[in-house]
Amino acid sequence: MSKNIVIHDYDITRSHRNKVNGHDSFVLWFTGLSGSGKSTIANKVEEELFYKGIHTYALDGDNIRSGINKGLGFTKEDRYENLRRIAEVAKLFVDSGVVTIAAFVSPLISDREQVKEIVGKEDLIEIFVDTSLEVCENRDVKGLYKKARAGEIKNFTGIDAPYEAPGNPDLKISTEEVSVEMAVKQIIDYLEETHRI
Ligand code: ADP
Repeated sequence: MSKNIVIHDYDITRSHRNKVNGHDSFVLWFTGLSGSGKSTIANKVEEELFYKGIHTYALDGDNIRSGINKGLGFTKEDRYENLRRIAEVAKLFVDSGVVTIAAFVSPLISDREQVKEIVGKEDLIEIFVDTSLEVCENRDVKGLYKKARAGEIKNFTGIDAPYEAPGNPDLKISTEEVSVEMAVKQIIDYLEETHRI
């Protein structure tokens, strides 16, 4: 940090905001292949939380890559920078008292570790949306796998860029075995059991 930047301590802190809101703030971080179901499940989880009166906000490729991260691509370096900025934004949201839902492929263990370092391990719940490449490719929700196979998209996770599955996620959702509704229930149950909500 520049030597002329001195951090000012504000009197209203996260704990004040958590108290007024009546709930803790943290990040639900969804990782998995494109088309695995991250956004679908994240969307429904947010809905469920929202109607329980919990303050939420969802960060995803659409609102991040078209704004703060406009200009970043999909090379290893850009993916790292993309996630680093997302983690910093998520950290601010957590500080503002919001349950922050982040749905990003985030394919590399090292990048996800960096995200945890930035946000703070205790404030991040890692949810692995576990769907095989075969199923994701069959779904091909956005037609991206077809393009990647045709060589029209480079560095596409699962095709010509790696996906490193989390070894020890807080939650694993096997979308080939459970419905969207069951996946949402699994997550809400976890949050209740661990007294996060
Ligand atoms: P991602 O955000 O991971 O790229 P999406 O949520 O955009 O993936 O797409 C996942 C697709 O898979 C959706 O069309 C969704 O309806 C479908 N799908 C089928 N079964 C499930 C399930 N059990 N959980 C989540 N999505 C599922």
